[in-house]
Order: sequence, then C-alpha cells, then structure tokens
Amino acid sequence: MPPAQDRLARFLVGLPDEIRNKIGKTKQTRGAQPYDRVVYQNRVNRNGLAVVPYAFRDRLHPDGFESGYVVMVRPEEYFSAPGRVRDDFDPTVVIGTDAFVYYDNRRNFNQFPPRAEWRARTRGGPGEMVLRLPATTATDQAAAADRVEGDPQGIRFFEYASTAELNATCIQLALLSWHTEGIDAHRTDAGTGVPAALLQEAERQGLWDTARLETLGVMHGGRTICPLCRQQIRATELMTRVEQAEGREVFDLTITEVNLFHMNDLKPGWYNHHRYSLGWGHHHCNAVARDRGLAPTVQWMAEVLRRNGYQVNDTDAAAALRQISRREGVEGVARAAFRR
Ligand SMILES: [Zn+2]
Repeated sequence: MPPAQDRLARFLVGLPDEIRNKIGKTKQTRGAQPYDRVVYQNRVNRNGLAVVPYAFRDRLHPDGFESGYVVMVRPEEYFSAPGRVRDDFDPTVVIGTDAFVYYDNRRNFNQFPPRAEWRARTRGGPGEMVLRLPATTATDQAAAADRVEGDPQGIRFFEYASTAELNATCIQLALLSWHTEGIDAHRTDAGTGVPAALLQEAERQGLWDTARLETLGVMHGGRTICPLCRQQIRATELMTRVEQAEGREVFDLTITEVNLFHMNDLKPGWYNHHRYSLGWGHHHCNAVARDRGLAPTVQWMAEVLRRNGYQVNDTDAAAALRQISRREGVEGVARAAFRR
C-alpha cells in the first residue's frame, strides 16, 4: 500500500501547487512558538504524540490518540509541600512513564522543587520533568540564568486528529478549493470540472454533503465562501502567500490571504479539527472570529454597526442562520468530543 502522502496526492491532481501545499499544511499544528518557552513541538503533524494536561486527563479523544499521549502535570498538582505528593494525586498517573512534571516559572520551581533523582524527559520518555524557566533579573547568577531542559513533548492535545480524519479533511478542503472563483484558470491538468477520482473518493467517505456544508456556512449557492464575511473565495486568494515573522501574526487588512478556518476554534477539551468543521476563510476574518466564535462575532459586528449609527435589520433569515449555525457547530462538535 502506498504511503498516506501518495494516496492523498492522487486526489489533489489538477490543483495548483500553492493550493496543494496549503491543503497539506492543514495537517500540521499551528507553529510560531519559541522552542525554549513551551513544551510543544513546532509545526508537526496533528496525529502526533499528544500532551494532555493533568486536569483534562479524562477528556481524551473519543477514539484515542493513535501515537499515544503523555500527561503534563503542574508542580502544584503533584506536590502539597516540597518532596511531598498530594494525597489526592491520581494514582493511575505515573510520573516518568506516562506523565511528567512541567516547570515554567521560578515561583513553582522554588516552592515545589523537582526530586533529586528526576531527569529531563526526552520525547516519549524516559524522564520525569521538563523545565522552561525564563531568565530573571536576579543578581545571583545561578538563579538568574534561564533553564531549558527536556525535549518538546508533543502536540497540544486539542489540535489532534487521526490520520484518517486528516485525510478526510484534506479531501473536503480540496473539493472546497475546486469551488472557489476562477479555479479553472489555474488548473494544472487538461480536465474540466472537479476531477472524478476526487469526487468519487469524497462520496465514498461521505464528505460531500453540500447541503450540510451550506448549512455549516462554508459554502453558499454551490460556491466556497468565507464563513465570517460570506464573500466568495477566489482561487488566487488561496494561492497568495504571506510570509509571517516567526512568533508574530500578520494583521493587515489589505492582504486577502485565505487560510484554514476552524468553525469552532481549537481549545482545551474539544477536538475541533475534523470533517464538516473546516472551511477556507480570509486571514483577517479568521483572526477576528477566532476568540469569540462565529455567531457571537457576527452579533458583535451588528452591535458595532448599530452603535455607529447604521441600521441593522435582524431578519428572519438572519435568525434562522444563527440558529442553524449554532446547532451544526457547537452541538456537532460536542457530540464528537464527548462520545466516550
Ligand atoms: Zn472573510
């Protein structure tokens, strides 16, 4: 059997390289985190080893993590006093094998110091601790230097998706790409319309329920739209690449770059990277909607307009749309996350 990469490539035939790359990149976690400040790997595949915070240890992915997971414990969750384990610490969590203690500040480090025998953890183990202590302004040289020990341990658990799910989402995103404005002018094969092999695969996997995609708000009238501003996406916008400074997001309203849009943002306890949950959206629309979520953002925009003297009529259609997107989005995801 060919590797997953080749199997997917077969279904992306005809799309320009920029779009194929963009689709491929959606399989990776978000990046731009400095290595010496966090415990996570930078820009790796979402099906990797998952780092699950202790407080979320019973909110694992409903289907499990195919590369396994490791529990990240805070010093105050493990110790009640220096060297003394809390009475209520979960005995099924074993530090050093499937769990580690993570120090990211001096206060915790001084209050609950690591045991003398603890070693810095490699990814997947062994090792009991990971240190990411920033340098301080203390005059004592030893206390002031930063301490970075232990490997990045894996991905944020809520960014996880299985290989099969990643494949499905890429196929869905490929189809959405074929429904952007002007895509025909950029196709790289001699065909017309959506390639049959892609359509067949999508239908086989139940990925092309266009009515559902329209309800979700990633398509409208058979065309791919930005979920927030509902403008049609142009193929060229998917092909624009904005170079981003490491660790910094570009926020420039004149750039209409289009990126992966999570209908429900990725956050602890939810697994929102899955089919019928993703679309293509403008970079700036993504940034605006990310924190609040889609429907509350639109409502907020209506209030902003009203306060600025514009008349905004809340029509029945708007109310219906809100209702539907709420049902499709939030409840759909809740089912996926807690089906355990
Ligand atoms: Zn938009």
